[in-house]
Amino acid sequence: MSNKLKTYQLYINGEFKDSTDTIPVINPSNKQVISYIPKGTKEDVNSAVNAANEAQTSWEKLPAIQRAEYIKKIAQKIRENADMLAKTISEEQGKVLGLATVEVNFTADYMDYMAEWARRYEGEIIQSDRPNENIFLFKFPIGVAAGILPWNFPFFLIARKLAPAFVTGNTIVIKPSSDTPNNAFEFAKLVDEVGLPKGVFNIVSGSGSEIGNTLAAHEKVGIVSFTGSVPTGVKIMEAAAKNVTKVSLELGGKAPAIVMADANLDLAVEAIKNSRVINNGQVCNCAERVYVHKSIEKEFTEKMIEAMKATTYGDPLKEEVDMGPLINQAAVNHVQSLVDKAKEQGATIALGGEIPKRDDGFFYAPTVITNVTQDMNIIKEEIFGPVLPIVTFETFDEAVQMANDSEFGLTSSIYTQNIDLAMRACKEIKFGETYINRENFEAMQGFHAGWRKSGIGGADGKHGLEEFLQTKVVYLQYDTNKQQ
Ligand code: NAD
Repeated sequence: MSNKLKTYQLYINGEFKDSTDTIPVINPSNKQVISYIPKGTKEDVNSAVNAANEAQTSWEKLPAIQRAEYIKKIAQKIRENADMLAKTISEEQGKVLGLATVEVNFTADYMDYMAEWARRYEGEIIQSDRPNENIFLFKFPIGVAAGILPWNFPFFLIARKLAPAFVTGNTIVIKPSSDTPNNAFEFAKLVDEVGLPKGVFNIVSGSGSEIGNTLAAHEKVGIVSFTGSVPTGVKIMEAAAKNVTKVSLELGGKAPAIVMADANLDLAVEAIKNSRVINNGQVCNCAERVYVHKSIEKEFTEKMIEAMKATTYGDPLKEEVDMGPLINQAAVNHVQSLVDKAKEQGATIALGGEIPKRDDGFFYAPTVITNVTQDMNIIKEEIFGPVLPIVTFETFDEAVQMANDSEFGLTSSIYTQNIDLAMRACKEIKFGETYINRENFEAMQGFHAGWRKSGIGGADGKHGLEEFLQTKVVYLQYDTNKQQ
């Protein structure tokens, strides 16, 4: 192991801890090892969950506003270290530095937003059928939360799990993706600096099948909040089922974008192109398949090819670059196999469609595919790369039917100036989110939740906060001496 390389430690019960084995972390834009992270064990998971469980009792007793103060202090630390954090994310994940900076700042804002709920989340007092009785509905924390993370927005997703968990009185054990763990360990250092009570925040890295599975199957974990792929989500449900543990799953997407003949075409092209380019095409909520009205097919396709052609890619730390690499070789192979399959099934590769001949990183060329039909794999499966398949339609009903024909149900979008169609889209497009005349990007005060195989439960806003709460009803009869 080179001395120059960064090394990290587990963070359990307020202490940094070495591990016997390590895992190398690769920079996807040059395939070089950038760090070694601890390969945690089942015993480490056990220690972390036990620490979180012990810490939870006194953490819950703190007034919510005091827990919020810690969240705000972490947000402040994030802002103070924004440059270092953005560079760390960009280096290990491959998103361009500008986007990594947006991710860091958005994360700090998200922490502050969730902290504000401290004085706002409430129970209820319910009317009783009896005289001299109050029925109180309390909202209590669930206990220990396990946050299992993917690699595509690795830093923000820590906050999406931790901030609502903390403000509501839960403690947490985070398991980062082995592709992008460095930012999580940098986060742990900042948490350590704010003096959070021991055991409230823990981080254990290692393989999904061992560390992730042990966490999901742990009897002292009260909620598993997972973001990642559908197959892993299924495994997590299975593991959690053993203890009837609550799961909140944010899974994959295959977002349709419908472009009607009356759409503002430039707006639609720009937003859909960005969907395929942002984070190198690896965003769960971004448009992955586009349905274009037959009458504007030519114009739309030409503009899209032009926009994708103008997209530059390379080292994500360079300011002039629009797009970085895919996360790893398996991702490149997956994208290429879907493109090849589309060709085999009769589609036309109008732009790109190939792995660029360069030996630095896991790059994929911006790609536009035409003559695509609904039955092709490229329309059914998540691509997660800078590839856009275009399907045409004749009627709104046909477009909606094809959009809904998916096992995924995360996000969707439509571009139209027709208020009737926009309103019909709200009701008839069966997805957790529909964006009308705008890019796919959720607000922190909204609710991000997938239908069908895209998930269970959701994140953000009031409803995302409530995921980390359980209700208790208390019946209190008073003045009982008088009644006797
Ligand atoms: P993944 O499912 O491969 O891995 C996610 C995490 O699960 C990793 O930390 C991994 O180590 C862990 N894991 C793997 N096997 C496990 C097991 N058996 N038990 C417990 N944990 C296990 O996903 P990924 O490749 O890291 O991320 C990409 C996927 O995430 C895409 O499908 C994308 O759509 C989805 N995603 C969804 C959202 C959303 O909000 N819905 C957001 C971001 C990413």
